[in-house]
Amino acid sequence: MNLGISATEFIAQVKAGMISVEEFLAQTFERIKKIEPQIHAFITLNENVAMVQAKDIDKKIKAKEKVGAFFGMPISVKDNICVEGLRTTCASKMLDNFVSPYDATVITKLKSEDSIIVGKVNLDEFAMGSTTEFSYFGPTRNPWNTEYVPGGSSGGSGASVSSMECIISLGSDTGGSVRSPASFCSVVGLKPTYGLVSRYGLISYSNSIEQIGPIARRVEDIALVLDIISGEDPRDNTTVSNKTVGYAKDLNAGVSGKKIGIIKQMTGEGLDKEVSSATNKAISKLQSLGAQCIEISLDAVEHSVEAYYTIASAEASSNLARYDNIRYGFDYSNEGFEFKAYISKVRSNFGPEVTRRMLLGAFVLSAGYYGKYYLKAQKVRTMIKSQIDDAFKKVDLLLCPTMPILPFKIGEKVDDPLKLYLSDINTITANLSGIPAISVPFEISNSGLPIGIQLLANSFEEKKLLQGAYALQESTKLQEVPI
Ligand code: GLN
Repeated sequence: MNLGISATEFIAQVKAGMISVEEFLAQTFERIKKIEPQIHAFITLNENVAMVQAKDIDKKIKAKEKVGAFFGMPISVKDNICVEGLRTTCASKMLDNFVSPYDATVITKLKSEDSIIVGKVNLDEFAMGSTTEFSYFGPTRNPWNTEYVPGGSSGGSGASVSSMECIISLGSDTGGSVRSPASFCSVVGLKPTYGLVSRYGLISYSNSIEQIGPIARRVEDIALVLDIISGEDPRDNTTVSNKTVGYAKDLNAGVSGKKIGIIKQMTGEGLDKEVSSATNKAISKLQSLGAQCIEISLDAVEHSVEAYYTIASAEASSNLARYDNIRYGFDYSNEGFEFKAYISKVRSNFGPEVTRRMLLGAFVLSAGYYGKYYLKAQKVRTMIKSQIDDAFKKVDLLLCPTMPILPFKIGEKVDDPLKLYLSDINTITANLSGIPAISVPFEISNSGLPIGIQLLANSFEEKKLLQGAYALQESTKLQEVPI
């Protein structure tokens, strides 16, 4: 049985009775058990429940009863998205034993279409990081070379889809966390427009910029998931009511006559040589398909890393203030402690990166420094948004490599936060301005490591974005994951 089929193929084959959901799921869990010791994408497996659901769906199909549009599709979920009855740890000791009493809205929607959740996947603690090394449960490894990082923070999502442990995964993207692992693991990852997908049940890191986004092996699969998870949600008042779009339709509209802006600040200096040459090849491919490519300068993005880390840390320090190990938390005796001493003792159990962000965030929000840092960062954000608005008066899409560098070795940058922060330079603009962006696998480097190309569109233009991404996907043929 081919576990590497697309979501579209899975649905068609189950519908036609060519494969049974039970058998597909059984083989999926077999594969998970076989390769997890090398990859470590999962924190929690949901095998018993998943197998019961699979049998149930097969029965319904046989009895010609109504079945949801996903027909038992195996899906993994980043462990900062709540799934009822399953642990939701955020890869933190703080939530090690937290079992969610409810489903996130995206989960309710996917379940109602008969998706099967195979398990919860690894991330950097509270989604803060770009490599999945900052997990309380240990790092996830890149299926293309297990000595390398899979990107992050949704590294478990990227690795599980890339290595055929599931067909689709949900991640969250605050500053690139869906697109970075998509690029490093050679899969597709979408950060939707802010407000298109409900964040209800996503544990907040920086709620003014983050979105839940799908990861899949094919662009058409991303469109199928977006059709299901997008839409207004009364439980998240930042969601907007847009008319139904039908993202999966007309994906092959092509890019002929489309104007694509090549972002000057993200395609020039500082790029790895192979990333740069892959980017040039992608541009030539799109041109040969009839797109017109012009250079677009967004000079405000030169300050985007500073602005992003100021705003995201400020929001994180506020959001994470609730973790006091009293309302929920790990087993820790409070006998003999005075209140403040207890709180400070338990909060020292956050990992180093989360601690760094909370301290930085509290500092930039403090009375004496608010104007100097936080306010300035918000001004940069406004400048970026206004330059993005201007750019989309001239072009349909923007393009740059998703990551400026190739995947690197586990441990190589873990002690150098600034280097890690700088690797987000091409992804954070979409978060600060709220626009959608997608990473499409485009090439494998000479050393066997994936390179992804990023396309960006104006707010709520996911349809156009997916059409561009589909054209790019079809223009290249990639080798299969070696694991
Ligand atoms: N690397 C970025 C950070 O550490 C992005 C993380 C994310 O998108 N969740 O904040």
